[in-house]
Amino acid sequence: MRILASGVLVAPPGYVRPMLFAPACVACRQPGRALCEACAAELEPALVLPPPAGVEWCASLLAYDGRGRDLVVNLKYRNAREVVGVVVPPLADLVGFAPIAPDTITWAPTTAARRRRRGFDQARLLAAGVGRHLAVPVEPLLERLPSAPQTGSGLADRLDRPRFRARGRVPPDVLVIDDVRTSGGTLSAAAAALGARGAKRIIAVTLAHTPLNHPAQNADNGKRLAPGVYHKGMDDAAD
Ligand SMILES: [Zn+2]
Repeated sequence: MRILASGVLVAPPGYVRPMLFAPACVACRQPGRALCEACAAELEPALVLPPPAGVEWCASLLAYDGRGRDLVVNLKYRNAREVVGVVVPPLADLVGFAPIAPDTITWAPTTAARRRRRGFDQARLLAAGVGRHLAVPVEPLLERLPSAPQTGSGLADRLDRPRFRARGRVPPDVLVIDDVRTSGGTLSAAAAALGARGAKRIIAVTLAHTPLNHPAQNADNGKRLAPGVYHKGMDDAAD
């Protein structure tokens, strides 16, 4: 692209005009504000639930339902950066309620296959944003390991039991960030890995929490649903 003396822009051959950026709501995708008033009013706060095993304190921002679910799905599959910009300030505010101030922030990495498919790891984007907001260092302390083959267990069980290994210098007080808390199995696995490498107190914040009647929650409670129903829920919530 160059500008002629007359002020006319001349595009080089093959130049494709970029799409004009049209802001749209991160939940309903209607043009307008980054989070429209109607969606903001519909977002349900997450229930306050006990932290998962091995985690000292845990809070989630939104119920993974209705517009909250739309927002998370858009984060994972469509407009990651816009969603991150909207949710990072309130996520960072949540951390202010924790009983400790973390030394370091990390995230529960998604599987390599999902990261390749999406081109990014949504939990990492959230962690980076919260770290910048709070001026706390963000470190890739966790490595996701392939699921162990579990003879006799179904796909649902394997999805719910991710395995992690901690790496690098793990400080005593760590905040783990994830996108969706379902059973808490991911956060517990992350806490176990960090604890094995020296973390003393682990707190966690997630963008959303599946409501108690979510198919994935029912499966956690041992109630088997039709496989199609279960996997539909898991596909959105688990990883
Ligand atoms: Zn909206």
